[in-house]
Amino acid sequence: MAHSLLTDASRRLDKALQYVTISDDAAERLKAPKASLKVSIPVRMDNGSLRVFDGYRVQFDDTRGPTKGGIRFHPQVNLDEVQSLAFWMTFKCAAVNIPFGGAKGGVTLNPKELSKAELERLSRGYIDAIANFIGPDTDIPAPDVYTNPMIMGWMMDQYSIIQRRRSPAVITGKPVALGGSLGRNTATGTGAFYVIEAMMAHQGQDPGNTTVAVQGFGNAGSVVARHLFDAGYTVVAVSDSRGGIYRPEGLDIPSLQKFKAETRAVQAVYCDDSVCSLVDHTVITNEDLLKLDVDILIPAALENQITSDNAAEVKARYIFEVANGPISADADEILDASSSMVFPDILVNAGGVTVSYFEWVQNRSGLYWTLDDVNQRLKQQMVTAAETIWQLSLAHKSSVRTAAYIHALNGLGAAMDARGTRADYV
Ligand code: GLU
Repeated sequence: MAHSLLTDASRRLDKALQYVTISDDAAERLKAPKASLKVSIPVRMDNGSLRVFDGYRVQFDDTRGPTKGGIRFHPQVNLDEVQSLAFWMTFKCAAVNIPFGGAKGGVTLNPKELSKAELERLSRGYIDAIANFIGPDTDIPAPDVYTNPMIMGWMMDQYSIIQRRRSPAVITGKPVALGGSLGRNTATGTGAFYVIEAMMAHQGQDPGNTTVAVQGFGNAGSVVARHLFDAGYTVVAVSDSRGGIYRPEGLDIPSLQKFKAETRAVQAVYCDDSVCSLVDHTVITNEDLLKLDVDILIPAALENQITSDNAAEVKARYIFEVANGPISADADEILDASSSMVFPDILVNAGGVTVSYFEWVQNRSGLYWTLDDVNQRLKQQMVTAAETIWQLSLAHKSSVRTAAYIHALNGLGAAMDARGTRADYV
C-alpha cells in the first residue's frame, strides 16, 4: 500500500492517547476527517486555452468550533496531504486553545507558471467550487504555502459576490485594507520566535552563544530568522527551494531579506556580482543545511524533510518545526533516541492561525486592534501554550511533541465527550 501521510500523522496521536483519559469513542472519531471535498476548477488561460485544475477542501473536526485552515497552491497537493494538514490544524487549534476545529484546502498547480490574471481566475473559480462548503460560522480558509493576502482578498470578494453580502469573516489573512489584521502576515514567524525564546530560557541557552540554521526563507522562515538575528542569535545558514547559503560567522539577515525580496532567491542574492563581495559564504543544498552542526535547526519549508533516511545525521540540539510536518514519524523515533529535542509544528507554527482567529474576531466585532494589541495577545497565547506543554513533557517524561498532543487531546476529548460523537441519535 502506498505510504499515507495521514497514517503517519495519526501515529503521533496514538502515542499521546496512552497518556490521556478521553473516551474510546472520541479517540475513534479523531482517526478520519469529517468531510473531504474534491473539485475541478476550469480556468481560461491567457492564451485562450482551458485548463482544469484539481482542488480540495477537507474539514477534519469541528467539535471545538468552525473548522479553520489555509489553502495551499503547490504541485504536490493531493487529498492525502490535505487531509493530513487538516488533521494537524485540528490539534494545532486545540494546542493553543483557540475555538476552532481543523481544515485545509489546496489546489494542485505550480503558481509560478500562472500570470496574475490566471491566478485570480483560478482563485475565484476555487471559491465558486467550494462556496457551499465554507462560511464564517462553518469553515474559514486562510493562506498557506504559495498563497498570500492578495489571493485571500480575491477569494473573500468572490464569496461576498456569491452571498450578495460582504463577508470578511469567511477568510483570514486578507490585505489590511480589506479587513485583514495587522500582524497577520508576520504572525507565524513571530509566534515561533516567542516559543523559541520561552523554551531556550528553560534550557539556559544564551542567544549570543546560539547558532541557527533555517530551511525555507519564505513568509514564516524569513520572519523568524529576522527576530532571532535582532535578538542576538547567530543565523549561520538559510535556504529556499533553490538551495542555501552558509556562513559560520553568521549572515546579515536584514540585507538578505531585502535581496530575497528583489531577486526571489537567497543563493542568487549572494552570487550576484554586486552582492557577492559583501560577504563570503558557502553554497549548500537544502539537505546539507539539515545536517549542519548548529544549536537550533528550523525546518520552515514543506513536510517530510527529515525522514528515516537522514535523521541520524541531524546534529542540531533543538529543532523547532515552523513548517507543518517536516519530520516523519519514523524520523521522530530516531531523533527521540538521540540528543536532539524537537518542538512540534502544532505548537511552534500556531502563531499564524492564532492571529487568524484575532482577525476573525475583529471582522465580527467591527473593532480593529493596533499591532501592539495583536502581538501582545499573540505572545500571551503562544507562551501560555508552550509553558503548559513543556510542563506536561516534564511530568510525563515524554517528548515535547507527545506533550503537545496530550494537551490538545485533553481539550478536544473534553469537548467531544461533552457534545457526544453524534453516533447515537435517538
Ligand atoms: N496555513 C497556516 C497554518 O498552517 C494558517 C492557517 C490559518 O490561519 O487558518 O497554520
